[in-house]
This record gives sequence, structure tokens and C-alpha cells, in this order.
Amino acid sequence: ASTLSVNGVSKRYRQRGKGRKLTVAVDNVSFTIPPGAAVGLVGASGSGKSTIGRLVTGTERPDSGQIRFGDLQIERLSHRSLHTLHRKVQMVFQDPYGALNPVHTVGYTVSRPCVNYLGMSASEAFDRAGQLLDRVGLAPSGQFLSKLPHQLSGGQRQRVVIARALACEPEFLVADEPVSMLDVSLRAGILRLLADLQRENGLSLLYITHDLLSARVLTDHILVLNKGIIVEQGATVEVLRNP
Ligand code: ADP
Ligand code: ADP
Repeated sequence: ASTLSVNGVSKRYRQRGKGRKLTVAVDNVSFTIPPGAAVGLVGASGSGKSTIGRLVTGTERPDSGQIRFGDLQIERLSHRSLHTLHRKVQMVFQDPYGALNPVHTVGYTVSRPCVNYLGMSASEAFDRAGQLLDRVGLAPSGQFLSKLPHQLSGGQRQRVVIARALACEPEFLVADEPVSMLDVSLRAGILRLLADLQRENGLSLLYITHDLLSARVLTDHILVLNKGIIVEQGATVEVLRNP
């Protein structure tokens, strides 16, 4: 199991249509997430949370600073070796509609990482996809394997996305507002599933949200971001005692 360490990371964006003006999205941020820890990254909209999510998953590079997961220096990984990182670090995003390929069946979507990352045969992978679907509450899985995304509800799609993320047996999960696009009535179920999976699998979790209540349920440590700067951090019970 590996520790994520983010060290002095900054990211600036050029503002659209404003010439050379830069937005500082993330400003000299440092934190570590030890194996198995559940950490919340909270802050108002525009505070830089999603940018940090993209930086730690290697989908964007920082302007300065280092991001290390175990022996992988994330900001230096080539596009090809991101594969090595994504074997260990998986993501679940806000939008369960955009995250799934509309022409891939659920069975194909969830089994593919087992083939690509774990080297399973297609039929082994399909069996495992069935087990994963059962685990994420899409049971009996036989009813879901051949479905296409448009035949599923938003909550069911997010469960498929979670099953796909777990398929390659990752060590670390980055969940960026995983329930904010779902009906309010579905949110608690998905959050409970994420909490259970995190504990069962000893996953490290970076849970990105503006919703303090859900951060309280899901995390034991909190980082509070304001305008790209970590302004407070500590045990969730301490940080969220006086919201
Ligand atoms: P949060 O996730 O907390 O809402 P973001 O990380 O999305 O915050 O954004 C932080 C800041 O960076 C905001 O000012 C946002 O407008 C800006 N920003 C984020 N992504 C981009 C981008 N691709 N291009 C330009 N500006 C961006
Ligand atoms: P395609 O065959 O068109 O590449 P994929 O099934 O690989 O389609 O993925 C569909 C979309 O979901 C792509 O935009 C891809 O980047 C994204 N995606 C794939 N795997 C994951 C994952 N584990 N977490 C989040 N997004 C993913």
C-alpha cells in the first residue's frame, strides 16, 4: 500500500479572453494521504478542489511541485505510463452520464479493466464483473450485464462507474462530487456504498465535495481549501465541530 504525497503544488490557468491574465487555481498546496485513510477535500465552488483531483490522477500537470504515489512521480509520468498509475488510482466523477460509453454494455464496461489491468480472460472478467455488480447493489447482476447506459437510472449508472473503478483492485479512489448530480433520495445510498467499499477494501479515499455533511459521514480527515490554499486541516470531528 502506498502513500500519496502532494508537495508544494501550484496550478495556474490562463483566463479565457483575458489575454495574459492568470487564475491561480491551486497555490502551493501540500498534504499526504496514508494508505487506507479517508480524506475529505472541501471548499466553496472555484476553490480548486477539482483541479487537485485532476492533478493527483495525472490528468493534468502542476506548474510546480511534486505529486508522488508510492514510487510513482505522478507529474512526470508520460501519457503511456498513466496506465500504471490508473491501475492503482481510480476516479469517480460527478456525472454518471458522461462517464460511460453509450455503446458499451455494463458487462463490457466493468469487465474491461479486469482484462486490461489484471490480465483476465474475457470470460473470467465477465464473471468478475457480475460479482462486482452484485457488490455495488446491481443485483441480480444477470439483469444488468447486457444493459446499455441509457437503460439505467442515474444512481444505477453511478454504481456501474463505481464497479468499473473497483475492477482493477485499486489502492486509491478519488471521488469528485460523486452524488451531486443524483436525486437527493439516491445520495445516501451511494455514499454508504462508497464508505463500505472504502473500509472493506482498505482503500485510501480522497472525497471532493462542497457538502460538509457528507464529508462528515465519509471521511476521518479533512482539508479545507479556500482560493487554492489549504486554510485548515485535521480530524473531521475537530474541523467540522463548528461549521
Ligand atoms: P472547484 O472544484 O473547487 O469548484 P476548480 O478546481 O474547478 O474549483 O477551479 C478552480 C479555479 O480554476 C476556478 O477559478 C476555475 O474557474 C479555474 N479553472 C479550473 N479549470 C480551469 C480550466 N480548465 N481553464 C481555466 N480555468 C480553470
Ligand atoms: P472508449 O472505448 O471510447 O475509450 P471507455 O469505455 O474507455 O470508452 O471510456 C468511456 C469514457 O469514460 C472515456 O471518456 C474514458 O476516459 C472514461 N473512463 C474510462 N475509465 C474510467 C474510469 N475508471 N474512471 C473515470 N472515467 C473513465
